Amino acid sequence: MFGLFKKSSVEDQPVTTVGKPDISREKSAELYRKSKTFFPGGVNSPVRAFKSVYGTPLFIEKGDGPYLWDADGNKFIDFCCSWGPLILGHNNAKIREKVTETALKGMTFGAPTAIENELAELILKNNKFIQKLRFVSSGTEAVMSAIRLARGYTKRDKIVKFEGCYHGHIDSLLVKAGSGLVTFGETSSAGVPESFAKETIVVPLNNIEAVKQAFTEYKDQIAAVIIEPIPANNGLLLQDVEFLMELREITSKNKSLLIFDEVISGFRVGFEGAAGFYQIQPDIITYGKIIGGGMPVGAYGASEEIMSNISPEGAVYQAGTLSGNPIAMAAGIAQLTELNRLGFYRDLNNKTKEFADAIQRFASARSYRVCVQQVGSIFWIAFSDKTKIQSAADIDPTSMEKFKIFHRECLNRGVYFGPSGYEVGFVSAAHTKIDLEMAKRTIFDALDITFKH
Ligand SMILES: *Cc1c(COP(=O)(O)O)cnc(C)c1O
Repeated sequence: MFGLFKKSSVEDQPVTTVGKPDISREKSAELYRKSKTFFPGGVNSPVRAFKSVYGTPLFIEKGDGPYLWDADGNKFIDFCCSWGPLILGHNNAKIREKVTETALKGMTFGAPTAIENELAELILKNNKFIQKLRFVSSGTEAVMSAIRLARGYTKRDKIVKFEGCYHGHIDSLLVKAGSGLVTFGETSSAGVPESFAKETIVVPLNNIEAVKQAFTEYKDQIAAVIIEPIPANNGLLLQDVEFLMELREITSKNKSLLIFDEVISGFRVGFEGAAGFYQIQPDIITYGKIIGGGMPVGAYGASEEIMSNISPEGAVYQAGTLSGNPIAMAAGIAQLTELNRLGFYRDLNNKTKEFADAIQRFASARSYRVCVQQVGSIFWIAFSDKTKIQSAADIDPTSMEKFKIFHRECLNRGVYFGPSGYEVGFVSAAHTKIDLEMAKRTIFDALDITFKH
């Protein structure tokens, strides 16, 4: 499935220029035909539908460690990792055991449980950037609540967001930039009232002048600036630390809040996320993905003073029937306990860096237009001759044609990437050096074929 694995250095291997035949997808295709009669587009979240790559979506049968198996029995090394949550890989034994043990006592109570305290304590004791938090059930919900909190706290309405950052499917953040440097958002989804989009100001990433201009034009109206401090939903657009520091300064000076949306970067680049990575104190932080160990959990946290504005203590309403669900808390506790061990991030991050560097070296040696960006255990293979990509405008949409070929060739050789060139890859602790070596060989072959086209 993975092609021949030889001991010699991967970079010395001969070029493979012939594409492999497509993997069998009969069972997946049949399931897809059926799912299309149940769900719009056959899926419960749009990017799963394989609209930007070749073929029909693969229906997954099971996962274990770094591997995935689809309904037709094809095996893959997985770099999507459920879009981020699975930092320990699939079907981790410790998470599975804790979840099973907790499930024996019942699924949900709608009343406080000790296990919520347990996860909260684990997080708050090891993260100096938040003092209190609230659990919700998704990243979208966390961001939506953080925005409401920022507006309630500052008694202002406008939000500054960055072109190229994704914050979930919240109405007022489903907006894209218009034509100017500083623009009112234009809705990027039908069903979002123009009047909602008007409360959102969209500016380019890594451009402090644009942010300053927004604060000049909308003085005393801006409740918060929200950013993915490590933007990873539109490629991986690493920001200059100076830019993030200036955001901190300008928001403080204008009595606006700085919201770090760490739904991806939280617990990913370190236990304290991007706030810890850059040592920048935001006012509100949102979490999701990793925090729930594969179960639906989100959270938002801030100082005690800011959090005291949330009901029932304060006037900002926010609630959830399944918030702090015991099974989800159990998964979170089991996962975060592993992450909190000494050396966990050092090992994972080093492994990922070596992997990303090797891909870049291979591509550069052959003059392929490839730019591999990496931070922590996140990487992104961009089809670009730039050496650094920091804003949405730096991404050439036509490069996605190359990604489509690359994606197909990887799948046919047993390596699974998220089905879009704008999605990043994740390395998990379950990916061994041998898995990564095998994946590299596959990626090199796939790149050779991609650049023959
Ligand atoms: C995934 C993501 C969200 C949305 O989280 P869901 O759990 O999918 O609702 C929000 N913000 C960021 C930065 C994300 O990566």
